[in-house]
Amino acid sequence: MADAPTLSSTPPSIASHSVDNTVARAQTRGWRVNYFNAATLGFWLIHLGAVAGVAMLGWSWRGFALAWLLYLPRMFFVTAGYHRYFSHRAFKTSRAVQLIFALGAQATTQKGVMWWAAHHRVHHKLSDQPGDLHSVRQSGFWWSHMGWILSRDLEATDETRIKDLAKYPELRWLNQYWYVPALVVAGATFAVGGWFALVWGFAVCQVLTWHGTFTINSLSHLFGARRYRTTDDSRNNPALALLTLGEGWHNNHHHYQVAARQGFYWWEFDITYYLLRALALFGVVWDLHGVPGHIREDHAATDAEVTH
Ligand SMILES: [Zn+2]
Ligand SMILES: [Zn+2]
Repeated sequence: MADAPTLSSTPPSIASHSVDNTVARAQTRGWRVNYFNAATLGFWLIHLGAVAGVAMLGWSWRGFALAWLLYLPRMFFVTAGYHRYFSHRAFKTSRAVQLIFALGAQATTQKGVMWWAAHHRVHHKLSDQPGDLHSVRQSGFWWSHMGWILSRDLEATDETRIKDLAKYPELRWLNQYWYVPALVVAGATFAVGGWFALVWGFAVCQVLTWHGTFTINSLSHLFGARRYRTTDDSRNNPALALLTLGEGWHNNHHHYQVAARQGFYWWEFDITYYLLRALALFGVVWDLHGVPGHIREDHAATDAEVTH
């Protein structure tokens, strides 16, 4: 099976200015958050819909179970899609499956895969240093948790960081109309299960997926153990690894970002990686990037040795 093919035509420009310039400006006068534009209004309306919907329909354990059941595929698309594939290219797949990963990821309403990957690559380039777009150390807890996704300063996609993705017109279209997959999922949920499914299976599930994802930017840079002496504050946290299907081994990930696995040892459960291995058995994905032994054993740091 061939890798996703590339196109020779030059893609039209996405952003007229670089995020780097925006970062420099924003750092001199402080970040601005968009509380009430079309994108962020959706963010708040879904939160409101989850709370108001549960209040009106009444508590339901069946609904609660539905939300967590649908959380699993959503979180898988966040971690395998937005993060390990589009941001880090930790494995290979076909162009058709690449599109499925993009649709699945964007159904979780965290903007386009190109936008997400461009921002995430800055996080790794400048981890917890000035210019990191979502750093607790630089900008505080709430900014690292969700300010970055609501920011007026960070709406543009920095094309220079995602040249490998920008050559696919379908990804460019999705990056512009990033909310379409989520609208389709919301509509399908309502069509199948009415208000009950829309509230629990979409709104509550979406809120859980957002904040589950955001813990990796916020809590995973605050709480947990540091196995590797990275230049940032990243931690390994088993509870967050469970919540995020493996992303909580975040210090491992900052130590060696290109790996398809973030649990480096057998006891570091990484559900996303197990699912990727299963997909690889069927030839859906391939060339999963492993962790070389000398990198895994390079335990240069302990909590006691690292102070911030
Ligand atoms: Zn990080
Ligand atoms: Zn990463």
